[in-house]
Amino acid sequence: MKTVDDFRAAAAKANSVLTIPDWEQTPEAVESATKDAIGKANGALDQIAAQDLKKVTFKSTIVALDDLSYRVESAGNRAELIKQTNTNEAMRTAGENAVKVFQDWAVGVDYREDVYKAMKAFADTHPKLSGEDKKLFDETMRDYRRAGLDLPPDKRKEVEQLRKDLAKLGTDFDSNIVNAKAPVIFTKADLDGVPDSFFASPGVKTGDDAYTVMANVTFQFITVEENAKSEATRKKLYVIHDSLAKDTNAPVLNQMLALRNKIALRLGYKSWDDYQTEIRMAKSGEGAKSYINNLITGIEPKFSAEVATLQKMKAAETNNPDAKIFVWDWRYYSNQLNKQKYDVDKEALRNFFPFQKVLEGMFRIYQSIFGLKFEQITPPFKWINDLQLYAVTDSATGEPLGLFYLDMFPREGKFNHFAEFEIIGGKLLPDGKYQRPTAALLCNFPPASADKPSLMTHTDVETLFHEFGHALHEITTRAKYGRFAGTHVPRDFVEAPSQMLQNWVWDKKVLDTFAADYRDPSRKIPAETIQKMNDAKFANAGVFYRRQFAFAALDLAMHDVHPEDVPYDCVAITNPILEKVFLPIDPDTTMVTYFGHMNGYDAGYYGYAWADAIAADMATVFEKAHDRYLDRQAGLRLRREIYEQGDARDVSLSIEKFLGRNQSVEPFLKKIGVTVQDKHGKPAGPSQEAR
Ligand SMILES: [Zn+2]
Repeated sequence: MKTVDDFRAAAAKANSVLTIPDWEQTPEAVESATKDAIGKANGALDQIAAQDLKKVTFKSTIVALDDLSYRVESAGNRAELIKQTNTNEAMRTAGENAVKVFQDWAVGVDYREDVYKAMKAFADTHPKLSGEDKKLFDETMRDYRRAGLDLPPDKRKEVEQLRKDLAKLGTDFDSNIVNAKAPVIFTKADLDGVPDSFFASPGVKTGDDAYTVMANVTFQFITVEENAKSEATRKKLYVIHDSLAKDTNAPVLNQMLALRNKIALRLGYKSWDDYQTEIRMAKSGEGAKSYINNLITGIEPKFSAEVATLQKMKAAETNNPDAKIFVWDWRYYSNQLNKQKYDVDKEALRNFFPFQKVLEGMFRIYQSIFGLKFEQITPPFKWINDLQLYAVTDSATGEPLGLFYLDMFPREGKFNHFAEFEIIGGKLLPDGKYQRPTAALLCNFPPASADKPSLMTHTDVETLFHEFGHALHEITTRAKYGRFAGTHVPRDFVEAPSQMLQNWVWDKKVLDTFAADYRDPSRKIPAETIQKMNDAKFANAGVFYRRQFAFAALDLAMHDVHPEDVPYDCVAITNPILEKVFLPIDPDTTMVTYFGHMNGYDAGYYGYAWADAIAADMATVFEKAHDRYLDRQAGLRLRREIYEQGDARDVSLSIEKFLGRNQSVEPFLKKIGVTVQDKHGKPAGPSQEAR
């Protein structure tokens, strides 16, 4: 097997550097590396602050800040990886502590007034900058403004205090959610329809004919809502679920909304959603709102048709022609519909997805369409035996582009979701060489057993295609500044390219290139199975998305313009929207008090739908291309216009360059089964709103 050294000559030729991180081996080493990184960064900050304010340059201020932030971030990323992957608990704890130190440091940097003075002195020279340099300058100064640094000292103090109070309340909000536990006791008869496996799960059977369902345990809640034949059961559990943290979090959220509003007003914004969206594609609260409203209207025909189907099922089952679909009914009837019409044996499907074949198949596809070559190399240090490391090169020129690790199976103490992590980001270094990125994929696919290889579910395969897309976004970057490289793009865009790649695994032509029964590889997935899977996916898309849009709309409504002296009533703002956009609710419920996204994704929930719509729009470039999802021209265009750019230029512009036209939500609506008619009343795309 090759080693990284085999790629170093080619890297030197391209004036770039490949780096395998020097992984710390003891908690003490983690701690001292953290101290060292912070010490150096503080030194660099002192240097910025100490310079002669009459001689400040772009390089000595704005770029110097990017350089030092980048170095700290690399150290922080390494600590994060140790926390998430190390097999030794003391090492994981050391990593976790280091991550906290880096986070606290990052907050403090915003408030280094002496550093800000140097930045301001440079800004006052009214520099003539262009392209990525100008963007870096504008956004660095914007960060300071957003932190309140250009306010008079007393006002700035106030904003700082408000932020601290808000952070504290956010912690309370989160813990109230974690602590909201609601056991609900049912009889076997109440739970008729719920699968046997549920009754067998630990803690459920709690008496002769007593079964305890925890309303706060998502899988228990969903299993009962999807399967219980009794409407009274579904309703009872739903009312308890949607009232979780009612008494504790309603006042907390009201205070959080008031604080956010105050911060926004002090900083010169008219609302918190304007403040939050300024740095995203949506650019304003209005932009996000009108986009979501257009989608709500756009999806109406599909939503109504689906609800009508569910209503008919309920009418037939209850012998009540006037039966209505309430918010506690949709999961149950959607599930019935899926079982009747689109039943696909998910377990049997796994035979077509042995891990290694899927991985190799995905590699072949991505190497081919993006013009890349992946070669496995020997890692100098392995934190687990089956850790894999790969070098990525440009297949046409041989230029090394970066490295990625694969840590794919679960184990005790490891990160328990699926995600891509940046370890070393891309950046043009002060010495003129380009630092190529190093990334990692941390996943938890089903491990192999004694008699079977690792067999993935279809969802696992989709996840792999998605997460690996983020790694490619990271590795192929050409951005000059760390701040803009790879996946450092606005949050309402970052998921879009990977969401687009999910389409690949729903396509027969793509699947046939790698999916084959591991016991008899001549057997491919039958066309009718793939058709059924696609039908099932879209059968409930109207209900699924209207619910998403309701969440997005109520989130934006809470963070809209609000008079400072009027107290908030989060439930009164949100319940009517939920009812109007989604389905009739019980008026005593308080869904928003248990909506964890409201601390962290506040005025940001719309981003999920936003990214989905952009993903569908971008997918059309492949769908119209000669080889569809396997088309190299389209792939190279994605690489050049989206991946390589990162945030070095406005992502709206990158999307339009990739599309070769303006953005549109029509492909998204079409994809989920809405027939888009004429130009009139056509929903506006995100970019139209953004301008
Ligand atoms: Zn993602």
